[in-house]
Amino acid sequence: MIRPRELALEAARTNPGALVPCPWCGSSVGAAKLERHLDEVHADAPTELPHVEGPDAGIYVPMIALGVLGVVMFGITVAVAPESGRIAAALPVVTLGVAFAVSFLAWRNVVRARLRFEREMLVLRSFFGLHRRRLVLSHLRVETGSVMGSRPAFPGDHQGRHEEIKVGHYLRLSDGTTTLTLASSGAGARKRWQPDGVRQGPKRRWVDVWLPTSAMVAVELLVHAHGGLRVREAGESS
Ligand SMILES: [Zn+2]
Repeated sequence: MIRPRELALEAARTNPGALVPCPWCGSSVGAAKLERHLDEVHADAPTELPHVEGPDAGIYVPMIALGVLGVVMFGITVAVAPESGRIAAALPVVTLGVAFAVSFLAWRNVVRARLRFEREMLVLRSFFGLHRRRLVLSHLRVETGSVMGSRPAFPGDHQGRHEEIKVGHYLRLSDGTTTLTLASSGAGARKRWQPDGVRQGPKRRWVDVWLPTSAMVAVELLVHAHGGLRVREAGESS
């Protein structure tokens, strides 16, 4: 269970002069005003979340690999076509079909990844729940930076020329064994938390999961509760 309200109020209690990110709208609220803000603005918000989730962005890499495998298999099948049976001929087509279908579903945001908080660990379940990665929350290395995407360089350009644009921010958490890269389209963690101690990372294109801002702040509050992020003091410029 993730309890964003409790985590935020605890951060406010232990840092009375701080600005604490609101777990629902992401704005920085003075510690003394936080409880009132939560009661007045987010009265209907749940007290606990079984998990947070968003589009599974990590699924593209294995699907590209599967697509390449399908093409290679197709090449081999063509090369030895006369000797190969019907099943051998169908295999590359099925492989390519699966890679294309899953990528299409992911692109339509149908494939979701989930983050749970269990026994002091953040657990990411992705790839239709088949792939599970556990991140120990203490002694995390925290990095943030821009997530880049691309769009056509000119409106209506059908020649495939694309330019790189910033599409969000990532929060990259590493416990030395596991690294999770979480992305959201809102402001980055350095706006909500003390920038010192958060490494400014390179621009990245590949992330594990896209989260709504509220889910990203909930994760950040968990990281804060385990010492990985520090609150900003009121009056500090961002
Ligand atoms: Zn709020």
